[in-house]
Amino acid sequence: MNNIPENLQDIRRRINRAAALRGRQGRDVVLVAVSKMQSSDSIDQALQAGQRVFGENRVQEAAEHWDGKKQIYPGLQLHLIGPLQTNKVRDAVRLFDVIETVDRPALVTALVKEMAGQGRVLPCFVQVNTGEEPQKAGVLPQELPALLVQCREQGLKIGGLMCIPPVTEPPALHFALLQKLAHEHQLKNLSMGMSADFEKAIPLGATHVRVGTALFGER
Ligand SMILES: *Cc1c(COP(=O)(O)O)cnc(C)c1O
Repeated sequence: MNNIPENLQDIRRRINRAAALRGRQGRDVVLVAVSKMQSSDSIDQALQAGQRVFGENRVQEAAEHWDGKKQIYPGLQLHLIGPLQTNKVRDAVRLFDVIETVDRPALVTALVKEMAGQGRVLPCFVQVNTGEEPQKAGVLPQELPALLVQCREQGLKIGGLMCIPPVTEPPALHFALLQKLAHEHQLKNLSMGMSADFEKAIPLGATHVRVGTALFGER
């Protein structure tokens, strides 16, 4: 049996332990509970256990999971952690509170325009394709500086960087690269680490870990 409240406690304990090893506070690490492909019953269990920050990777599915929930659960925060098409920007800005996957000039322009139109300011992360994988979203490391300049010039608030390491490589190499890039650009937040590797990401500076399977069980 999958016990979501118990899993949540266990993950928080592991976060605290990984943080303490580096003299950090576990509460400074945000647990983003990845609720993609989970049932509404599972999501409700996590909400009832007190979890308030959730990640979704598709705009349409997120709307199905979360429309109307913000009225019931104050403090609910939704992070978009999947690729964003420009034709979905309107719905994304309406529903989400943080966009973690800014990765190209056209998306920056579309987000700036839509946020102005809706009068909403969403903090964003730039997703970096640290493994330079052709099929993966994210800006290439060498293109990051120009994208950050564009964000600054157009007024898109970037608070940090996000990455998804290649499955075939030691994730710590990629976490270390992301940490270095964030440091170079004076960005505070690092969204890195998933169920299998969040304890490796925290010592390398993760401020946000995105955990699905370890909390909810297999999708
Ligand atoms: C699905 C997903 C996760 C969660 O992965 P788990 O291995 O289930 O913890 C994290 N980040 C992104 C971008 C995802 O798409």
